[in-house]
Amino acid sequence: MSIGKRVLVTGGAGFLGSHLCERLLDRGNEVICADNFFSSTRRNVEHLIGNRRFELMRHDVTFPLYVEVDEIFNLACPASPVHYQFDPVQTTKTSVIGAINMLGLAKRVKAKVLQASTSEVYGDPTIHPQPESYWGNVNPIGFRSCYDEGKRCAETLFFDYRRQHNLPIKVVRIFNTYGPRMHPHDGRVVSNFIVQALKGEDITVYGDGSQTRSFCYADDLVEAILRMMDTPHEVTGPINIGNPNEFTIRELAELVIELTGSTSRIISERLPSDDPKQRKPDIGQARSVLGWEPLTQLREGLGKTIAYFDQLLAEGETFKRK
Ligand code: NAD
Ligand code: UDP
Ligand code: UDP
Repeated sequence: MSIGKRVLVTGGAGFLGSHLCERLLDRGNEVICADNFFSSTRRNVEHLIGNRRFELMRHDVTFPLYVEVDEIFNLACPASPVHYQFDPVQTTKTSVIGAINMLGLAKRVKAKVLQASTSEVYGDPTIHPQPESYWGNVNPIGFRSCYDEGKRCAETLFFDYRRQHNLPIKVVRIFNTYGPRMHPHDGRVVSNFIVQALKGEDITVYGDGSQTRSFCYADDLVEAILRMMDTPHEVTGPINIGNPNEFTIRELAELVIELTGSTSRIISERLPSDDPKQRKPDIGQARSVLGWEPLTQLREGLGKTIAYFDQLLAEGETFKRK
């Protein structure tokens, strides 16, 4: 991405979007951040508001958007199961109609457009680790389907706009990513465990905790999607972005307790339906096409994330610690 481009980030006030807006501004770009604040707050981008190259716009991507930009990062979509299952019809609309609107916009202004897709397109995978060539194992009618199928349909739309209109598209499939500015109550495992540990509350492991995830730190993720946007026209993806180091959820709980020095106990709660048993990206393509691999190990990234939540809680909430 060259200096001075006009860039639209949908979902720009969210956890990942806010880090991306920051990096884009650092690179000298003009940034329009469009967000309806469904799963985020202005607080995430408050520090950018004084920047003359930054514009914050309250906008829902299920409605058309007419702006003049060179590049579009389409991140708008609630990402945590708690948020995306709150209004599942709106989740599907956000992914599908949001994709149509951003693709229509890209077509009109001849912009490059990047879709933040997800490892959830693989569902509960039967192949491990998951390469991009795997078509997935998704329940089309379950509680997670609004998110999984919405994102799958968005990918379809991206590739059809490419085939029909030769649009410069980029699709990244993001695996579990964590870091500062995750919503403290969005129910994702990293934020839940850290907040619980900092408050001295029980740590809620769903099921027996033997299910696995691979956790990527936000800064690494943002670096990868910036590199993806800069690839030549023939590179479309989909490309997996994530950290291939795999942990069980119980291991994560134990690590969070260790790093926070918390007295919290680990308790077991019911495993949600369709919860994938294992997930780990094959990042061979990210390595070869983008020259990228994650640099931040879980211990280090968790330390930074814990420091963020520690401050957040100290500012706004009372909590108990050892
Ligand atoms: P997030 O919930 O913090 O951010 C999503 C943002 O989109 C929020 O600011 C929300 O208010 C906004 N939004 C939701 N619906 C909208 C709509 N209709 N119009 C405009 N804005 C809307 O989540 P995140 O973790 O930052 O995720 C960003 C993107 O990355 C999402 O598309 C998500 O599906 C994808 N992703 C994230 C992860 C992860 O682990 N963080 C993994 C896979 C994919
Ligand atoms: N769109 C938009 N901004 C634009 C151009 C289009 O939001 O600058 C929306 C538009 O409302 C349309 C969608 O993108 O519904 C798809 O546009 P496209 O041109 O592909 O399809 P059409 O308008 O022919 O249905
Ligand atoms: N999980 C858990 N306790 C929590 C929140 C989540 O054990 O308080 C588990 C969840 O069942 C899943 C894993 O952690 O197996 C990751 O959950 P998350 O919601 O973060 O992401 P996703 O399921 O979309 O990967």
